[in-house]
Amino acid sequence: MRYSRILIPTIKEVPADAEIISHQLLLRAGMMRKIASGTYTYLLLGWRSLLKITSIVREEMNAAGAQEIMMPSLQPMELWQQTGRNVDYGETMCHLTDRHGRENVLAPTAEEVVTFLAAGEINSYKQLPFNLYQISPKYRDEFRPRFGPIRSREFIMKDAYSFHSSPESLEETYRVMYDTYCKIFARCGLEYVIVEAETGEMGGSGSHQFTIPCESGEDTIVYTQDGSYAANIERASVDPVAKQTANEEIPAMEEVHTPNVGTIEAVCDFLKTKPEQMIKTLLYSKDDKIIVALVRGDHEVNEEKFKIVAGGGKIELAPWFKIVDTTDAKVGFAGPVGLSKHVDKMIIDHSVAAMVVGVTGANKTDYHIKNVVPGRDFQLEGDNIIVADIRNACEGDTYNGKKLLFKKGIEVGQVFKLGTKYSEKLNAKYLDENNVEKACLMGCYGIGINRILASAIELNNDKDGIIWPINIAPFEVIVTCVNHDDEEVAKAAEDIYQKLLKNNIDALLDDRPLRAGGKFKDADLIGIPIRITVGKRSLADGNVEVKLRRESEGEKVKVENTLVRVNELINKLRS
Ligand code: ATP
Ligand code: MG
Repeated sequence: MRYSRILIPTIKEVPADAEIISHQLLLRAGMMRKIASGTYTYLLLGWRSLLKITSIVREEMNAAGAQEIMMPSLQPMELWQQTGRNVDYGETMCHLTDRHGRENVLAPTAEEVVTFLAAGEINSYKQLPFNLYQISPKYRDEFRPRFGPIRSREFIMKDAYSFHSSPESLEETYRVMYDTYCKIFARCGLEYVIVEAETGEMGGSGSHQFTIPCESGEDTIVYTQDGSYAANIERASVDPVAKQTANEEIPAMEEVHTPNVGTIEAVCDFLKTKPEQMIKTLLYSKDDKIIVALVRGDHEVNEEKFKIVAGGGKIELAPWFKIVDTTDAKVGFAGPVGLSKHVDKMIIDHSVAAMVVGVTGANKTDYHIKNVVPGRDFQLEGDNIIVADIRNACEGDTYNGKKLLFKKGIEVGQVFKLGTKYSEKLNAKYLDENNVEKACLMGCYGIGINRILASAIELNNDKDGIIWPINIAPFEVIVTCVNHDDEEVAKAAEDIYQKLLKNNIDALLDDRPLRAGGKFKDADLIGIPIRITVGKRSLADGNVEVKLRRESEGEKVKVENTLVRVNELINKLRS
């Protein structure tokens, strides 16, 4: 294609509302434009890269035996009500009422629709297994759309769903998808880390996430140096801290007046104590029940782990009036002493149970209690009391005795073993060899196409712009014609360009009547991996310059050898 005929609106300034480099460069390189919060138009360059990513995904999915289908973006709300996920997805779901008053959901994902399809078509075990996928827009009313394509409200997802008659068959497809994802991300030129993941509102029994380690990532990866363990922090387990023993007898509990001192930091300041000596008491509500979480003052409740121990469902921090009602005190003064009989469940983190003594709220406005001994002053056992791992891993923790390390990452894909959660509820059942009716086992497998685009830029850029991995670059080669008004130079550039096209090389001809400096700047910004510069001076010696975007120096190549050299470089960049 000819640069002079394409809309590539590059900009010099860094756009004010773009916080991370990929978002800035996608805008600066004229690849996309924002329409409204979390929605973007992709211009030719951005769209070409997305199409290349899509092709890689499609090729690998087909090679893995999955079949491509296309499901509607407009989904009936009743299906979501049948699985109860209208509640789990909650406000993240975009929905609309049609002219007949029917509620519709704009697809955030498609487990319900695909299971409904399967329910109508499957009757015998002989039809199983199969794996259906689509590549289509998804809609999520994210609380805070940000980072451009990484967290947007409309994006392209490859979503696949497999159906099985045995756990072994599910396991096999899960493995195939896992390996397929490795191939896809490697072909896209991404370095990735696979982590154990929580299943979230998807449900099911096992899951892995494919993450791209980088500073701007919103996920935290917890891992051990030797690579034997890697998990999303939402899921990461920690070894329980050993029970500490008291050197001397702990005096009886003592109430202390702490006027208007409600936060952990403020209490620590006021009582000259440390967060690790505090017991934090958080009240959650599940329907009309109250469930309490106790963690050390320096720890964070891990809501994913907590929800599992609490029995799942919609669990949220309790509103202030429920806290006041339950504890008889203002928010900030809740504590475990005497609380278990007023709540439905009390879940105590291991590290609280291991404490010798602590400070907690007194369930009385403006008061705390000192010398609180877990097990002595509040129970660690009982019908509604559970001691469990409900906190986030943090610096200093170990797992299986090995030190845990932390890094940030972007989730680009996730695979799940769903079990029968959807097939039971939506009646996707089959008759087995003995004519017994059974619910299908299911797996589901998602990839965020736009997140791959952004992650590739996060990993591959320099001060001048993007450096595309060759397989997902909008063009593989840019032919920069330096003296376009010189007929001979223009013709030489045109010849090279045509030759590249004939040999199926994705080439862009920069035929704009601009100075060389401006053309080079744009070529660097849009990040085309190989640049061929055709100029009057070198052409006089029968040469062009061939330069890789990722290297600072180019090389002289005889005009007639250009194609051969470019092919060599493409192969080198692919390897
Ligand atoms: P997150 O935890 O980041 O919100 P998710 O776990 O809810 O994502 P999935 O339901 O697993 O996402 O969707 C499959 C894939 O779709 C994700 O791995 C991610 O690559 C992509 N994706 C999800 N939400 C968004 C979004 N708001 N914008 C762009 N891509 C997204
Ligand atoms: Mg996910």
